[in-house]
Amino acid sequence: MNTIYNFSAGPAMIPQDVLNQAKQELQNWQNLGFSIMEISHRSKEFIEVAEQAEQDLRDLLHIPDFYKVLFCQGGARGQFSAVPINLLGNLKTADYIDSGYWSKSAFIEAKKYCIPNSISIKEQINGKTSLLSMSQWDVNKKSAYIHYCPNETIDGLSIYEEPKFKDKIIIGDFSSCILSRSINIENYDLIYAGAQKNIGPAGITIIIIRENLIGYTSKISPSILDYKIISEYNSMFNTPPTFAWYLSGLVFKWLKRKGGLKKIEELNQIKSHLLYEKIDKSNFYINTIDDKNRSKMNVVFNLVDPNLNEIFLKESFESGLIALKGHSIIGGMRASIYNAMPLEGIQSLIKFMSYFENRYG
Ligand code: PMP
Repeated sequence: MNTIYNFSAGPAMIPQDVLNQAKQELQNWQNLGFSIMEISHRSKEFIEVAEQAEQDLRDLLHIPDFYKVLFCQGGARGQFSAVPINLLGNLKTADYIDSGYWSKSAFIEAKKYCIPNSISIKEQINGKTSLLSMSQWDVNKKSAYIHYCPNETIDGLSIYEEPKFKDKIIIGDFSSCILSRSINIENYDLIYAGAQKNIGPAGITIIIIRENLIGYTSKISPSILDYKIISEYNSMFNTPPTFAWYLSGLVFKWLKRKGGLKKIEELNQIKSHLLYEKIDKSNFYINTIDDKNRSKMNVVFNLVDPNLNEIFLKESFESGLIALKGHSIIGGMRASIYNAMPLEGIQSLIKFMSYFENRYG
């Protein structure tokens, strides 16, 4: 049987080492005779796991002490509501940068709480999709914050520039690129990310927030979305998804063993470069995104002849290359290649793409 490589956009691959460790520990965690899922989140054993996970995340991202790390539920979509509820203050508008499906979805949700300002940054240059650089973003002086999405999971578009706006609160939806490269946390005021791509299993959402922004929540906020309450209760106001928290902690340890974000960034660069090079060198596959905005996590591509899509998906699946179908709103193919995707997975996909091109091209 072929080795299976899973290109799912999320929930996505989890490192094999992590799964093996979880398997070994599943029924007898730390020799207690039961699994981690069966102990209280308030037990000393679980609190150690939770604190260690936070510390490892802080180490990986170099998170300064004046930022809080919250482990929440409700996914990134929960944060589409939590952000305006917690950060609008007395202001009535916020800037939402529109770079694709997910940033637009955040804007739509924000309309429930304010009159958000949608700023489109997509442009077409010589048949390629490109995103305006930050200095060209037409942000509004009276807005409470700027919200943007550095990696559009569906569109395959990325923003690598780091925000440096004077006197502006910057919010980043890092759901599909957190921990894929080093960033300077201090360039952001709040970062959030659903776990199911680069962190661990679905069910936990991580928020990294500058401490002085906590405490301005709207009175009508549900308590479970109130950053002040979540923070005061050390992310345990309601029962946290303990297994997802534990498994995320194993992923953080795995990343540290791999050499941290510098090393994983190098590997992600190599992996995505190989795949884009394969696409660019062929007349059979196509990607029309400007080099500077190509995602290193979600590589979208089309077959020049869309009649071959179904057979491409069928044969790739039979070769052990799973979940290459692009999102239904844009069609084509998408290879999601998060941190857990080994280089061999990319090589295997490229080999298959060459075979398929020779056979049907
Ligand atoms: N933002 C981005 C960038 C995403 O990729 C996703 C999920 N694919 C979401 C938000 C929504 O996440 P969730 O399903 O965790 O609410």
